[in-house]
Amino acid sequence: MSSTAWATDWPEGVLARYLTAGGAHVDLTSRRFRTNYTAQGRPYVSDHWREVDGFTWQCRGCDTRGSVNAFGDPYLPDERNKAHNDANRHAAECRSMPRPTR
Ligand SMILES: [Zn+2]
Repeated sequence: MSSTAWATDWPEGVLARYLTAGGAHVDLTSRRFRTNYTAQGRPYVSDHWREVDGFTWQCRGCDTRGSVNAFGDPYLPDERNKAHNDANRHAAECRSMPRPTR
């Protein structure tokens, strides 16, 4: 049986993995962070900050990091689908190749 890039073990914490046209991985992971958005999500904010388990993604080829805005904010817990969609879209458009492992 031949070994393939997509059959190798995923790094710890990776929830989903997308493949770029060049063969690099885009890894979706959970991300704990502090936010003042309420449980209702955007655009509802309060003056109370809380810790949530949201999401982010990173392209291992070009190092682009997933974010909901220009400030680099991670995705809120209820934005998991958006995180998946954005990671998938990046993978579809990105032509970066995997970095050499050494
Ligand atoms: Zn990329």
